[in-house]
Amino acid sequence: MAPRKLAAGNWKMNGTLAALDQLDGMAAAAEDASCDVLICPPALLIHPMIARVGAGDLLIGGQDCHAAAQGAHTGDIAAAQLRDAGATHVILGHSERRADHGETDALVRAKAQAAHQAGLVAVICLGETEAQRDAGATLDVIATQLAGSVPDGATAANTVIAYEPVWAIGTGRTPTTDQIAEVHALLRDRLTARLEDGADVALLYGGSVKPTNAAEIFAIAHVNGALVGGASLKAADFVPIITALD
Ligand code: PEP
Repeated sequence: MAPRKLAAGNWKMNGTLAALDQLDGMAAAAEDASCDVLICPPALLIHPMIARVGAGDLLIGGQDCHAAAQGAHTGDIAAAQLRDAGATHVILGHSERRADHGETDALVRAKAQAAHQAGLVAVICLGETEAQRDAGATLDVIATQLAGSVPDGATAANTVIAYEPVWAIGTGRTPTTDQIAEVHALLRDRLTARLEDGADVALLYGGSVKPTNAAEIFAIAHVNGALVGGASLKAADFVPIITALD
């Protein structure tokens, strides 16, 4: 089995019911595509999205879940609740959550475990800051985050890894193709050494992916897709990225 290709959109805290109009074009592209296509909207939009596009080829996911299965955690969402709403995936450990909510590798790992138990695919995000890259620490940072954030029990079926340099998110800046290749080779090596089917875990690149740079990024070894923020909000931007991956 080769890693399944995945074009994933992270809507972050953007979108209201009016934004559902963007889904029709994305759902049509997902139906035509052989790669997987995923949109992770704010949690309130998960159910309306599924009601809009039905149980077709466009997958819908969450942006976070709690590490506990249920209980007294006001404002949080359990993995099983995402699954119940129809989500198939959940983004975990995004750098914005690591920064805004102090999420550690250990917490991300616990959340991924909860996601797996609920039957969700965990899309685990890793990435270095600009200061860490400037200090020459990128590979050490990524290796540490990977080891700490991926739980035992991870498989190619229940886990996707997204390499997202913090300095490339929402900035219009991207690493060179060599820099992306170097990190993805490290991820592939470490996953293959640790997991029985680590060679088949999908590896995404994320950070300022656009229709104009997608094809070049998808041509890099061990890049099996993208986690896309801003350019996933509009069908006119996201559909060409899906097409470039397919
Ligand atoms: C992201 O938030 O995961 C992301 C990659 O954002 P953008 O594509 O806007 O850089």
